[in-house]
Amino acid sequence: MSSAVSETLAPSWLIEPADPNALAARVWPARTTRDDAGRITIAGIAATDLVEQFGSPLYVFDEAEVRDRAREAATSFAAAAERVGTTARVYYAGKAFLSTEVARWVTDEGMNVDVCSLGEFAVALAAGVPAAHIGFHGNNKSSGELRAAVEEGVGTVVIDSLIEAERLGAIAAAAGRVQNVLIRVNSGVHAGAHSFLATAHEDQKFGSTLDQARLIAERVRTFDSLHLLGVHGHIGSQIFGVSGFREAAARLLDIAVQLDALELLNLGGGFGIAYTDADDPTPLPELAAGIMDAVAAECAARGIAVPPLAFEPGRSIVGTAGVTLYEIGTTKDVLVHAADGEGVRRYVSVDGGMSDNARTALYGAQYSARIASRRSDAAPQLVRVVGKHCESGDIVVDNEYLPADVAPGDLLAVPATGAYCHALSSNYNHVPRPPVVAVANGSARVIVRGETIADLLSRDAGVQARVPAGAGEGEA
Ligand SMILES: *Cc1c(COP(=O)(O)O)cnc(C)c1O
Repeated sequence: MSSAVSETLAPSWLIEPADPNALAARVWPARTTRDDAGRITIAGIAATDLVEQFGSPLYVFDEAEVRDRAREAATSFAAAAERVGTTARVYYAGKAFLSTEVARWVTDEGMNVDVCSLGEFAVALAAGVPAAHIGFHGNNKSSGELRAAVEEGVGTVVIDSLIEAERLGAIAAAAGRVQNVLIRVNSGVHAGAHSFLATAHEDQKFGSTLDQARLIAERVRTFDSLHLLGVHGHIGSQIFGVSGFREAAARLLDIAVQLDALELLNLGGGFGIAYTDADDPTPLPELAAGIMDAVAAECAARGIAVPPLAFEPGRSIVGTAGVTLYEIGTTKDVLVHAADGEGVRRYVSVDGGMSDNARTALYGAQYSARIASRRSDAAPQLVRVVGKHCESGDIVVDNEYLPADVAPGDLLAVPATGAYCHALSSNYNHVPRPPVVAVANGSARVIVRGETIADLLSRDAGVQARVPAGAGEGEA
């Protein structure tokens, strides 16, 4: 394999590394290193030891990394808010990855929790999170979900439609409660990594236009059982800069002023992380300060005090804290005809795939990867890491340079898999979901147990024959 071949197939953003063993600092949990034997260690535990104890594939979370990010989010928004004369509440968007342990870590560090289903609500409550510290989202909450939220005393419900305002008003009245609510507004701003669009984002299911928001506010105020705090907007994900937030804040403030609903302005989440070395997100404290200054400037321009604010980071709290470990099973060189010539792409197959990480198949997400079980002196080789599922789009890492001697039996670590991987996991091909393990201070413990074949069969109402030998051990 010549390097010319790699150049033909590699995307322009992917730089061939001088050392394909190197761990790019911003992509991995801060306590990740290689030990003297060349093995990747996370919070003091070698990847090989983790897999020996808990099996492969394996989701690993560095607890201290989650706690550090949660504390940083809570304190940086609070400090930035104080500078402009207001306060900020920070909610962890539980959909990124929710378990009772994670809910306790983030609330220990000063965050509230956002949920968007009865299941997420149940996990947060089971963690001991006070209902008053929980926000409830969703464009189609059922009556049952709304009833549970109201009766448990949830802090805020974010109303997404006129129909929901009426449904919630009646439910809160029947429960004899006054429910605090926000109205979700579609500001038209849609932001991503490097830019934002200020228009043409109207054709989507979330939120209300200004006219609709006015009707919803009027309806909410006809209910003694509802109290309108303000408006809510969420403009996208993987956002690296302030400008989209400023534009959204300006539009939301206009609406909040018109609705006379300025007790709370919720600007959502979407703060970006590094998935590969090519990503360079603004550190959260800097982003928080920039957003707060922009909001304060927009308030000054309207002659109003800065209202109390809320934010909802998900990915930026847990994303970098998670690493997925896999075992490599096969490798294969495939001749590829590209526009500017032909080349051989090396496919590296692992023992998981789109069932534990759907983001590459769903969004074309980019990840990085490293051999975790050893260091290698071999030259960098362009590879594509794929899973074991019956789907050609079953890609885990689309493009990465690994040592050219990558081989069956090597463990592979894929960093930045803490957000939206376990959360979006499935049993496709009846592959059991891997366990989630937390590492802290040199020890590891299961925080979500892995599924077994017996778990899968337990849902099948027609089982008559015996299950395969060893199925209870979680073997795929
Ligand atoms: C998804 C979502 C978030 C969290 O987004 P991240 O990109 O994970 O920070 C916050 N608020 C709302 C309403 C969301 O839908």
